[in-house]
Amino acid sequence: MDDVHSVVVIGASAAGLSAVEALRAEGYRGSIRLVGSESHLPYDRPPLSKQILAGTWDRSRLELRPEEHYQRLDIQLALGQRATGLDLQNRTISLERSEPLHFDRLIIATGANARRLPILESASNVFYLRTIEDAFALSTVLRSARSIAVIGAGFVGTEVAAAARKSGVAVTLIDAGDNPLAQRLGALVGSRVARLHSDNGVVLRMRTSVLEAIRNGSNIVELKLGNGDACACDAVIVAVGADPETAWLNGSSLQIVNGVECDEHCRAADGIYAAGDVANWFHPGYGRRLRIEHRTNASEQGVAAARNLLGIPTVFCPIPFFWSDQYDVKLQSFGILPANAQVSYLYGSAESGAFVAGYFEEERLVGVLGWNAAKETRTHVATLSSLWTHDIGLVRMQGGAGEAGRLGQRPIRSG
Ligand SMILES: Cc1cc2nc3c(=O)[nH]c(=O)nc-3n(C[C@H](O)[C@H](O)[C@H](O)COP(=O)(O)OP(=O)(O)OC[C@H]3O[C@@H](n4cnc5c(N)ncnc54)[C@H](O)[C@@H]3O)c2cc1C
Repeated sequence: MDDVHSVVVIGASAAGLSAVEALRAEGYRGSIRLVGSESHLPYDRPPLSKQILAGTWDRSRLELRPEEHYQRLDIQLALGQRATGLDLQNRTISLERSEPLHFDRLIIATGANARRLPILESASNVFYLRTIEDAFALSTVLRSARSIAVIGAGFVGTEVAAAARKSGVAVTLIDAGDNPLAQRLGALVGSRVARLHSDNGVVLRMRTSVLEAIRNGSNIVELKLGNGDACACDAVIVAVGADPETAWLNGSSLQIVNGVECDEHCRAADGIYAAGDVANWFHPGYGRRLRIEHRTNASEQGVAAARNLLGIPTVFCPIPFFWSDQYDVKLQSFGILPANAQVSYLYGSAESGAFVAGYFEEERLVGVLGWNAAKETRTHVATLSSLWTHDIGLVRMQGGAGEAGRLGQRPIRSG
């Protein structure tokens, strides 16, 4: 790529890191700037709701790479620096606290932000969980609170509830759905997740939402729920999902609809690519757009975006994968788990301590969910990849699921 002398990557986290590493791995020798609004070296988010809340990891273990790594790869880090705009015509990024940056090629990897609940704003005992600061603030709360209310029973909310119970804190988990995780995993597995949490002492308030927050000074002391219940609490944790971070791209003329719209090569416009939680790309295997908030996806898409940027045509069509740890249960999911899928057990059952649930659409297996059944879950993944014609190669299955150490493996194909 003789015409590429400067690549800028905005967003210094999982997707941005794997992109800059892949640029060097593929032989690009020009300038690379990795710009991130957080002041930390790129760090891992999944442990925030697991090892950090459990108190088993200290801060240093979150860093994905030591500082010398960036020097060795000759990557210029600009941390604590927020991009505020993109001028496509002049190929420049405006920054909050510096001169505009010129680029020949750009990768957008600005991730997502925790969605906020306006009804709770300005209270001093309301917490969100997206950043390292959020996690340490919450871990302090879990050491002192007697009772918390968790609003939102998705992955982050249920993991927070599990960590709080392990610390001996009373937890009320509130969600509009029928069961925790039911919107993500369906009714069958959702009811098993509900039992897991109630067996561990979580008070479930499902099929309801927060109507009113009663305050004492700046603290919320009670939540009034739509079903008539009241929930007294020392702190409130809001985990109601995340929105892609695209505000800085307003007016750029990029297509922004639930993230940065990209094609199957992660390309948003000429010389502009997106990867990770912020990217809404066309998955040719499923024949539709996906925006996925999964750790592994962020790393893999960063690699694909970098290769395409360098002119190595790389279709990005992974089998989506995520994991979650709650109490002594490890959940692993491969493929897609549509809300209207037919779900049945492929191994074990809800009564056993381990099972694999299969998600079927028109009698085709489109997703599998393992519950303490890593080996049995993986035996079904080859079936998932046979759903589409692109040969993605199941590289990811060889190294154990979900570790940051697997960055750079490529379930993608050239062409
Ligand atoms: C608490 C928690 C637990 C999770 N657990 C799991 C799990 O168990 N399994 C799983 O698969 N996934 C999990 N995830 C999801 C996973 O962490 C994300 O999918 C992954 O972090 C996405 O990486 P990313 O690089 O796309 O975006 P992010 O990690 O969101 O990083 C984006 C970066 O860009 C920066 N940025 C944003 N805007 C700008 C700007 N304008 N200028 C400069 N920089 C900017 C942000 O500050 C941030 O550092 C979890 C997420 C959270 C929050």
